[in-house]
Amino acid sequence: MTNLNLFVENGKKIIGVAANYKSLLKILDKPMPKVPEIFIKPTTSYITEKENIVIPKGFSVNEEVELGVIIGKIAKKVSEKEALDYVGGYCVALDMTATCKMKEARSTGGSWTLGKGFDTATPVGSFIKKSDIPDPHKVTLWCSVNGKHRQDGCTDDLAFSIPVLISFISQYITLEPNDLILTGSPPDMGPVQQGDIVRCGIKDISEVEFKVEAE
Ligand code: MG
Repeated sequence: MTNLNLFVENGKKIIGVAANYKSLLKILDKPMPKVPEIFIKPTTSYITEKENIVIPKGFSVNEEVELGVIIGKIAKKVSEKEALDYVGGYCVALDMTATCKMKEARSTGGSWTLGKGFDTATPVGSFIKKSDIPDPHKVTLWCSVNGKHRQDGCTDDLAFSIPVLISFISQYITLEPNDLILTGSPPDMGPVQQGDIVRCGIKDISEVEFKVEAE
């Protein structure tokens, strides 16, 4: 077995995509964006199994379960047609989001950095080989909090598909091996609190659990 979380050790960036599920856009009453809305999370936000999600003092934090796409080779200005050749593997991920900071950012036009980038804001499961997910647009994501079902969705509902995301990002930002793209969350994300157990997975393929603590 190869090092399961090489991407966590060696990845140089994490790129998130905002509101990328058609069903979520519908709930938010938002039109389909013309291009993906992307943001960067620092790699210091990574945690892996057995580490805890830590809510920074005074923050309100939501979980968002997402399919993570791990880049396998340098991608610079790649076409949509060839984009999947640059995928090295996948993982299940949580894009932990400080809703209090996002609200501030949205009202002032400020940055998403604290809303998305605080320490422990990117919990991830183990590396999944590319061959274990033959069609990344047919995987079912799920998330439960304290054993209660909270989120589920299928990647066939992505507003911008994985090739579109890779191609779009690579026009401006060179993607390097072990970089992670968080492809967006299906609806029904919600707040987590100290003591909660967040469990998430890709149905039949991978799952991982994290405990939440408050600073
Ligand atoms: Mg997200």
